[in-house]
Amino acid sequence: MHDVGALDPGARASGAPTAAAVADPPPERRLFGIPTCAGVAIGPVFRTTEAPPQFTRHRIQAADAAAEQARLESAIMQSRKQLLKLRGRLSVLPEDSQGEIAPLLDAYLQMLGPSRLVRGIRTRIGDRLVSAETAVMEEANAFANAFIALGGGTAEDDGAARRKADEVREVGRRLVRNLTRAPFRSFAGAVQGAILIAESLRPADAALIDPSRIAAVATEEGGTDGHTAILLRALGVPAVLGAPGLMAGLRAGETAIVDGVLGTVTLNPLPATLANAKRAVVSFARDRQRLGRLRRLPAVTLDGEPVLLHANLELPVELPMVASSGATGIGLLRSEFLFMNRDTVPTEDEQTETYRSVVEAMSGDPVTIRVLDWGGEKEVEALTNAGLVPEVVDANPALGLRGIRLLLRQPALFEAQLAAILRAAAHGPVRILLPMVTTVAEVRAARVVLLRVADRLRAARVRLPKALPPLGIMVETPGAALCAPALAAEAEFFAIGTNDLCMYTLAVDRGETDVAELYDPLNPAMLRLIGMVAEGAATRGIPVSVCGEMAANPALTPLLIGLGLRSFSTNASAVPRVKQAVRGTTVDDCQRLAWQAMKQTDASRTRELVERFGR
Ligand code: PEP
Ligand code: MG
Repeated sequence: MHDVGALDPGARASGAPTAAAVADPPPERRLFGIPTCAGVAIGPVFRTTEAPPQFTRHRIQAADAAAEQARLESAIMQSRKQLLKLRGRLSVLPEDSQGEIAPLLDAYLQMLGPSRLVRGIRTRIGDRLVSAETAVMEEANAFANAFIALGGGTAEDDGAARRKADEVREVGRRLVRNLTRAPFRSFAGAVQGAILIAESLRPADAALIDPSRIAAVATEEGGTDGHTAILLRALGVPAVLGAPGLMAGLRAGETAIVDGVLGTVTLNPLPATLANAKRAVVSFARDRQRLGRLRRLPAVTLDGEPVLLHANLELPVELPMVASSGATGIGLLRSEFLFMNRDTVPTEDEQTETYRSVVEAMSGDPVTIRVLDWGGEKEVEALTNAGLVPEVVDANPALGLRGIRLLLRQPALFEAQLAAILRAAAHGPVRILLPMVTTVAEVRAARVVLLRVADRLRAARVRLPKALPPLGIMVETPGAALCAPALAAEAEFFAIGTNDLCMYTLAVDRGETDVAELYDPLNPAMLRLIGMVAEGAATRGIPVSVCGEMAANPALTPLLIGLGLRSFSTNASAVPRVKQAVRGTTVDDCQRLAWQAMKQTDASRTRELVERFGR
């Protein structure tokens, strides 16, 4: 029997291997995905397991019943979406496996339709006044127990009843996981050097990875510029995401090779494949050492034009990597990661300590702290627990209450963060960055809040820097890019977020595997918008940098320089490669490349130009 749990984490465990499976070593299998973080690793497979969802059973007030029903509907929708996606992926499996798994997924989907199970859950919420999680678990258990009690008498009937009961419980667990939005994974059992393989990883899960323990990561789902990918690059963990068929037949402990440069995952490698991979590991390490020597050399073009190279920072554990990268500042501190994987929102004091420690670690180099960018794929349980964000997930979270929109609606949250940043700014140069700005009104409103917070702190005799930190904005929507001159009159600096800019411009979800090939930062629309932002900043003489993943690709450095950019912020491990690209080119050549690129009507031609330039 095919391991259903492989496609559906949390589903029942498969039976013991058959005699044939023990006798025949499984053949080498190579899968292709999206190269996400460069590096090669070899190790035993660690298949992640779902942590049991944490919740307490509790009763609710009659007035809250409608809200609980709405949460239930949202969890049902999400669960159906996940299962339909899994079903869509079955085509990559051998036919006999498809035949086994498809009916099971259909059974799950049926239970999430207008079924007795769902009716029962709704009734429990409405009549017994219990929370949605409580209603789901109680109804699923009652239903499953009823199946077992009915049994059938024969061993075959009993087995069928047990399987049915397992199916009901699995649907219940999936609903509760979606209701609680608990991190799905537990990495506790991973041995040193393990290759972590999962159906998908959320950003909050990826933030829990210990890079000294996990050698590489591979998943079936995910796109190259989603936040999970960004975190994996930040941690320097070789990764391949979006590799269909990866989980099918996967066995814990078998040997895997993850090649984050080629985007391949090889399972049960043959001796020759293994030997090649070992050579690749050594050569990658040598390459890294060679690049490390660039650390002390300046980032200037061959004709002497200086370029600023800063690092992006998500987690304090990355600080040593930033120090050894040669970056001369933090161009983007994604503060939302301080709010993840905890139950409560960090207080002003806690935040001050974290920001201060980063500012001090940078010893006088500037630190750009982006205020909380909640929304999209970045779920933060602490904010949900505190009632600061809606319980029910929007139909289009990327277009909803994201970034600055949320902060302006939650002044206490915003003010506490600004106060913490101002207090940290007394210890070194800091800039404040606003995420997801789309209107000048948002910048003005944020500045009012910043001035109010500064006044309050001064009145309380808190030590602040003489001049307030510059207030800048992320340009990451086509709307902001098109209005760059107007925004440049309000903001003191721009940081171009090419990840979201690409997503919103091309209408392609940045973390979505199915449309990954359309997510192309070389699309002519992107180049035009980036050029407009650089020009808009120049009209007012404000600094502009690129801090999206586009900046981390050294092949694109000359093009970006040609478009007028002189400042980049990337994950720490990319800094030396980008520096090498800067030091190998002249501004004149870059401008010629950009001029050619701007004349192209499709991305593939531009890619050819960029590749030819690199040769
Ligand atoms: C971006 O959108 O390019 C960006 C840098 O912000 P984030 O990836 O955190 O959304
Ligand atoms: Mg963004």
